Amino acid sequence: MSRFWSPLVHSLTPYVPGEQPKLADLVKLNTNELPCGPSPRALAAIKAAADDTLRLYPDPEALALRTALGARVGLPADHVFVGNGSDEVLAHAFQAFFSHGEAVLFPDVTYSFYKVYCGLYALPYRLVPLDAGMKLVVDDYAGPCGGVVIANPNAPTGTALGLEDIRRLLALHPDRVVLVDEAYVDFGAESAAALVRDYPNLLVVQTFSKSRALAGLRVGFAFGQPELIEGLTRVKDSFNSYPLDRLAQAGALASVEDEAWFTSAVAAVVQARGVLAQGLEGLGFTVLPSAANFVYTRHSGHDAAELAAQLRARAIIVRHLKGDRTAQWLRITVGTDAQCAALLSALRDILHRVS
Ligand code: PMP
Repeated sequence: MSRFWSPLVHSLTPYVPGEQPKLADLVKLNTNELPCGPSPRALAAIKAAADDTLRLYPDPEALALRTALGARVGLPADHVFVGNGSDEVLAHAFQAFFSHGEAVLFPDVTYSFYKVYCGLYALPYRLVPLDAGMKLVVDDYAGPCGGVVIANPNAPTGTALGLEDIRRLLALHPDRVVLVDEAYVDFGAESAAALVRDYPNLLVVQTFSKSRALAGLRVGFAFGQPELIEGLTRVKDSFNSYPLDRLAQAGALASVEDEAWFTSAVAAVVQARGVLAQGLEGLGFTVLPSAANFVYTRHSGHDAAELAAQLRARAIIVRHLKGDRTAQWLRITVGTDAQCAALLSALRDILHRVS
């Protein structure tokens, strides 16, 4: 509480990001980063950009990067928006598109930042429950609303909808923006970017933080028709007219151009995810089918918070979220083969001791 704060600031419940511990030698499987470093070409481009030209402002339109991102999915640069991580792109989208006086809809189990943005921009929202199997049911999103937000694949569950379901969702609300947050799409889901030309109400948001191993660079982007991109740009330019610094623009562009690195990094995660899921099932865990770089898992005989604490005592950190529907689950990032093996071996040991 502070006498200097506005009533709005008093009302905020900020997002609590996953822990970034300072200790070395941790097996860090809690925030869905990639276990390998980014494309060497991206690193070289960032280093090359760190010169005297830093005295100059960056390109306020980030045109080279937007052009390259659009080209990957067959869209021109005026269909592409970039920002400091997809969190910032999402923040701008909530502010630009969702104040219709009606509730924004999103699943009861999803990325917890969505609620935070609703708080920040004083937007009403309604949580739409996932079904008993933690799946999203499109028909539950029918009826008047101020817009729809889904993560596909969803987080923390990792499950994905196909494009037919996304089309049905878009058709339910032709006059409202349907935001599809594709932070994890590259690990096994179909991108709705292919639908952007057909649906003026679709905004697809992606990031360099996961499949491009550049969480530290803070680059996110969105695809949408120019009407939506212009809405986002108006908000951005009223906030900070430089979307990305020079190093981020250079690094992200070089990363997009390194398709070979991208393909092999994603393939390594998908391969390791299969091994991890199988290993967990072998220990008696239930594992939801994952299209992301993490798995969502529970063990009917063991308390998830206790398992997370026991893992932590062995220097392995995974994500446990409180809440009615999430308290029995663990979200585990797919690490290197060695990290996944260490996790499975620790769990085997823990289960053995407890039972
Ligand atoms: N969306 C989802 C579903 C996420 O899990 C995350 C990562 N926490 C983000 C968006 C934000 O990612 P970033 O800001 O690093 O792009």
